[in-house]
Parts: sequence; C-alpha cells; structure tokens
Amino acid sequence: MTALRPEVAESDRDGRRGATLPVSDSEGTGLVQLHESIAALLASRGQWRQAYQHLRSAFDLVYADQDDQPQVPEQLRREVDRLRREHAEAREQSLRDSLTDSYNRRYLDERLLDLVAHRGTATAGLAIALIDLDWFKQVNDTFGHLLGDRVLQRVVELLQEELPEDGFCARYGGEEFVLVLPGLDASPAVEIAESARLRVERHAWASLAPGLRVTVSIGLAYEPAAGESPARPAVAPEQQLLRADSLLYTAKQSGRNAVAYRENGRVRLAGAASGRRGIAESRVVGY
Ligand code: GH3
Ligand code: MG
Ligand code: MG
Repeated sequence: MTALRPEVAESDRDGRRGATLPVSDSEGTGLVQLHESIAALLASRGQWRQAYQHLRSAFDLVYADQDDQPQVPEQLRREVDRLRREHAEAREQSLRDSLTDSYNRRYLDERLLDLVAHRGTATAGLAIALIDLDWFKQVNDTFGHLLGDRVLQRVVELLQEELPEDGFCARYGGEEFVLVLPGLDASPAVEIAESARLRVERHAWASLAPGLRVTVSIGLAYEPAAGESPARPAVAPEQQLLRADSLLYTAKQSGRNAVAYRENGRVRLAGAASGRRGIAESRVVGY
C-alpha cells in the first residue's frame, strides 16, 4: 500500500467513517491493512454491508493520498467491486422465496409501503390480487408433497406471464400468492387476474402427473389513485390486503376457480364465472 496523508478518516465499530485524526504514514498503512483484514473477516461471515464499509474506508485512505488522478490498487478495486456485487446478490436473494423464486413477503411489504407512499402523486390506482390454490391439500395427499412443490413453482411461472410493467408476484405464505398491479385502471387489472386464473386452469397439468388438475381462486381489491376519489381516504396496504382476502373467500365460497372483485359496491365474479348464482358476500370488510 502507498504512503498516506497524515489526516485519515477513522471508522467506528460498524465501519462507518467518521471524525478525522492525524495519523503517521506507517500508522496509516497499518490502518489500511487493518480495514482490509476486518473487511475480509466480515465478508467471510456474510456481513456484507459492514465489510463494504471497511473496504470503503481503506479505499478512502489510499485515495486521500493522491493529489491528481489516484492510482487505486487494482486488487483493492476488484475487491470492492466483488463485494458490491455480492452485497447486491445477497440483498436480491433475501427478497426471494427459495422454493418458487418469486418475491417473498419482505419484498411485498417493502414495495407496498413504497407504493402507498407515492399514492399521492400516482396517476392510476393500485390493484392487489390474493391468489390461493384450490384444494391444494388434496394435491399433496394424492400426488405427494414433492409434486406439490413443483406445482407451486409452475403456478408462479404462469402467474408471472404477462405481468404489466412494475407488476410483480410475491409468495404470501404456503400456497398463497399476491399479484401487485400498480398503475392500472380497475378493469384491466381484473382482466389480468382473470387471464392468470385461466392460464392456470388450462395448463397441461397432466404432463406433471396423470390425472392432476390445478385451479386457483383470486380476490382482487382495487384502490383508485388519490386524485380519482378525493372523498375516500387512502387505504393502508394491510387494509387492501384484507379486502382482497375477503374477496378471495367469496371466490372460494362461490365455487372456486374464479376471480372475485368489487364494482360499484357490488361483488362480482370475472369471466366465465360471472354467470354463477349465489355469490357469497360474507366477511367482506372495510367498505
Ligand atoms: P382451499 O381450496 O380451501 O384453499 O383448500 P386447500 O386444500 O388448498 O387449503 P388448505 O389450507 O386446507 O391446505 C393448504 C395446503 O397447502 C396444506 C399445506 O400442506 C399445503 N402447502 C403449503 N405450503 C406448501 C409448500 O411449500 N409445499 C407443498 N407441497 N404444500 C404446501
Ligand atoms: Mg390457503
Ligand atoms: Mg388453498
């Protein structure tokens, strides 16, 4: 490592850079090495953020020594790049469901908070569709848990086809998934949910196991953009999810394999199921 400027940043216990202290050249070199060693140790424990901060501190110490264009040691630069990449990958992994590779509940919660925070400036509404596999316990009981896992993976692939820009699929838990569809009006959101339901119904499930059939029920709750409905207060994401859950219950009670949604205050079933009689409307909350 090259000689250092006598003024260097001191890192605190978390590796954050803070106050500057006068440091001699040899102390500075030692400090760079210390930062590098701590970074390597933290990285080996998977503590990427802190490791990255220590490498940044080492980087800054070297950088501070250069008056013009700094000659950052190639190895250090590569190390910082590698850590940055690994940090990004680790973050992405922490937001994915390990079985289906869809987003997980943590990602869902983060994104919903984000979307609601921007609701005031959004020009279109937000649709949340809660999806539950029909009679999935029977699928496991008849074909085995491993095949059940493969069904969940395939369902996610089907749900994710034809998602609009900014739309995403997250595993809500067990055999329940959420499609979040921002920036749409109500009726295209219903169409997207209905075509997802239809794709699952029409999929060639028998190719996974002879006799296998899979369908899903969906409850879709729609919230208009703030400007579209000034008389109605903005709804928290948990509340919208509860409404989707109530509508999902309606879809189940109305014969399953259907999308339930609300239009002009009334619960309806989309597409082919719209002709069904006796739509169960119990448990619909918050209206
Ligand atoms: P309904 O139509 O009313 O939703 O019936 P259901 O059988 O789908 O609902 P129930 O809640 O009785 O059963 C859900 C099943 O989903 C039970 C549970 O073992 C299964 N399940 C949840 N997570 C997983 C998973 O990761 N893999 C597999 N194979 N099965 C799962
Ligand atoms: Mg369920
Ligand atoms: Mg189910």
